[in-house]
Amino acid sequence: MSEIVDVSFDLKSYEYSEAFRIANNVKDKANNIEVKVYLKDGTVGIGEASSSYRVNGEKVPALFALKDTLKEMISGEDVRNYRRIFNITDGLSRTAPSVKAAVQYATLDALSAVIGLPVYQILGGSKSKIHTDKTIGIDTIDNMVKKSIKTFNDGFKTLKIKIGENLKEDIEKMIAISEATPGASYIVDANQGYTTKTAIQFAQSIYAQNVNVVVFEQPIMWNDLDGLKLLRYNSPFPIAADESAKTKYDVYTLIRNECVDFVNIKLMKSGISDALSIVELAKTANVGLMIGCMGESSLGINQSVHFAAGTGAFTYHDLDSHMLLKEKFHGKFKQEGDALIPNPVV
Ligand code: MN
Repeated sequence: MSEIVDVSFDLKSYEYSEAFRIANNVKDKANNIEVKVYLKDGTVGIGEASSSYRVNGEKVPALFALKDTLKEMISGEDVRNYRRIFNITDGLSRTAPSVKAAVQYATLDALSAVIGLPVYQILGGSKSKIHTDKTIGIDTIDNMVKKSIKTFNDGFKTLKIKIGENLKEDIEKMIAISEATPGASYIVDANQGYTTKTAIQFAQSIYAQNVNVVVFEQPIMWNDLDGLKLLRYNSPFPIAADESAKTKYDVYTLIRNECVDFVNIKLMKSGISDALSIVELAKTANVGLMIGCMGESSLGINQSVHFAAGTGAFTYHDLDSHMLLKEKFHGKFKQEGDALIPNPVV
């Protein structure tokens, strides 16, 4: 009764409340795909793919073209044997990782309905609540300071600050934000905008000014592993890989080459299956973990809330894209300020 009989894809477009700027990139819209799996007994499981051309090389029309093939691949599989469905869809890792994430999550969502257990408990039920940061996109110094103050006063104790376009301005920005929000922690994300040299200069300059950076994310190009290693040993702050860390194989290579203190897992880069492997790899190697997002609506963020609470593996949660989009909330979690609570008891 819990075999998959059909799969559907629906395009959902969401506008950002305000253009979202990161180093060398601006987004004003997220074109996401709602993926549903239908079971023989009428149960429907739902997931969301928020693709990224910049990181994953994905384009929405190419992803849509996969629908019939995907249906063929997983039809007849029972969601109770979800590892079989994970193994089949692992082949999408390099070509359509966001679709892999959505269909793997939809499988767990359907299983959750079949057995009457929330997904976060299927994944281990480690935590009943997590806390997210909120992101400040690249803007003028004045605007970034204003937004930081507002976000901090709204209850977000960790602010994620986007930088990476101008070293001198970035140093000024971080010092100004730090002075305006005493007590806050900062994850700074340069989205590959620096060179190894400028990244070291940035980290050492703001460290000398006592700016409380807890993670310095992807300062340099994703494929520069020598640079990351050099940076890691010259930065007073922990270095995290995001764009460098897509599959479990990437993370294995990063760890073996001593390139990272932290890994930023995103389901949209890795799907559920690789994300589970990366959690174990990082724990084994004593590397820290954060979880991030692309342009997911609350439906897609729900996936990461359940994954993060279930595994309990993350020091930092950057699950805020739904707050940056114009949308009507439709996640299976509850939000109270910076707290995200999977399937609250009603
Ligand atoms: Mn990032």
